[in-house]
Amino acid sequence: MIQHAQWRIGPAKAPGNPPLAHEMVCVACTDSSGPRREFEAACDWAFRHSGGHLSHTAYREVVHRYWRTAPVD
Ligand SMILES: [Zn+2]
Repeated sequence: MIQHAQWRIGPAKAPGNPPLAHEMVCVACTDSSGPRREFEAACDWAFRHSGGHLSHTAYREVVHRYWRTAPVD
């Protein structure tokens, strides 16, 4: 049986997860900083990565933000 329901979505507060995290992904090799709480920490990783791989200078930022769905009462 499939029942139609309305859902809502809101920010999730998961223990151990920051509400927002930044990740830099190298476009050349797809290596990544992994999620970092501070944007500057993700940038520091990119600087070190470019320093070790001089042709890897383009990055894609991924923002991790956690959400949770729940049925509307
Ligand atoms: Zn790279």
